[in-house]
Amino acid sequence: MSYLQRLKDINAKYGMFHAMTDETDAGESRFLFSAKDNLTSLDMETCAGSRILQGYVPAFDAAAIERMKAAGGMLVGKTNMDEFGFGTFSANSAYEIPRNPFDRERSCGGSSGGSACAAAVLEGHVSLGVSTGGSICCPASFCGVYGIAPTYGRVSRYGLIDYGNSLDKIGVLSAKASDLRKYITIMAGRDERDPTSCVQPELKSERRRMKSVAVPKDGIQGLSGDVEAAFNDSIETLRSMGIDVEEVDMPSFRYAIPAYYVIATSEASTNLARYVGMRYGVQEGDLSLKFDDYFSSIRSASFGDEAKRRILLGTFTRMVGYRDRYYAKARQVRQLVIDDYKRILQDHDAVLTPTMPYVAPRFDEIERMSALDSYKTDYLTVPPNLAGNPHLSVPCGYDGNGMPIGMQFVGAHWDEDVLFTMAEEWEKAFDMRRPEVEA
Ligand code: GLN
Repeated sequence: MSYLQRLKDINAKYGMFHAMTDETDAGESRFLFSAKDNLTSLDMETCAGSRILQGYVPAFDAAAIERMKAAGGMLVGKTNMDEFGFGTFSANSAYEIPRNPFDRERSCGGSSGGSACAAAVLEGHVSLGVSTGGSICCPASFCGVYGIAPTYGRVSRYGLIDYGNSLDKIGVLSAKASDLRKYITIMAGRDERDPTSCVQPELKSERRRMKSVAVPKDGIQGLSGDVEAAFNDSIETLRSMGIDVEEVDMPSFRYAIPAYYVIATSEASTNLARYVGMRYGVQEGDLSLKFDDYFSSIRSASFGDEAKRRILLGTFTRMVGYRDRYYAKARQVRQLVIDDYKRILQDHDAVLTPTMPYVAPRFDEIERMSALDSYKTDYLTVPPNLAGNPHLSVPCGYDGNGMPIGMQFVGAHWDEDVLFTMAEEWEKAFDMRRPEVEA
């Protein structure tokens, strides 16, 4: 069977790809990769999970994709995701919802759900994800693979369809720990087209060993029994590897979620203003309408419910009269989170928590969740995203149904090296399971 046919068959079962290559063999390529569908790609439709971008085929590659291709990679697919990254389960996609490789009735996590799925089910595959509030570590944890969101500014965002510009980071998901270092090294570095990438120090590869981790007390509240047990076992394993584990106070932790949802939606609501049925994607409105009625008609018909909710919320929090109470306040909280990490990471190499408070939920459970329930699920992944710190999720256990559990290491700004080394060592100590792929 050709490799493309096999990809198609696997995709039919798991729904990880929105668009796929029609090449039939890999030619001279050194490796195959996929990328979240909010990274623009030459000649491959890019919709960011939204109906409003249907039909948009970019005329350029995102910087991250460009660098992967230059290193010999072949882009085989664009992965399904929550619309514009708005979600935790990839269920807010206007297209297909990817299915968890360990149980197809459950979510892959989100918003880079398709990327985690591809990393878990395809042998030797690497996938690019994007994190704004946890969208790499969450799906990595739910699908039982490794994932890193590097320091904010490490990988150029040129060609990324923005969600929240002060938060967005491009990273890597793979079933192999050493891939994280390998592919972040390929994509990292200065790019004049994204000024935030131009202030970065060099990405070190000293293979510095982790000696001590801090566990914030608030980070071990509200966990399911299985996650708590797997996390406690993992702490014992870390101790047996010679790593010091200490509980610490991180007072800002509990305020991170409200601050994040104010900042992220404020930025998202301005970013979405450009989708009006003129420049990209759908343009099928009634052109005899006045221009603002035309824009509204396209936006009403083509944005999903979660995108509309976030436009309303983000517009409200930025309004004159409310701005100080919400947006400015949230920025103050963000500074507290940054300061807390700085303080703790002076004495420790990483801050450690489980990645998600429970294993991947079933789709019927997700349907019963309110928007707030789903926002609250992110309380462990949002703090490092608000602070721009690199964070890496490793698989660390399985519950009684065989569903994967993950834990997350948060490092100091620009110190990905110690996280990579930790993951590489963890891989040797941990008995990782691969899903049985049906196709
Ligand atoms: N679940 C979070 C949100 O909905 C984070 C998503 C993300 O990182 N893109 O905003």
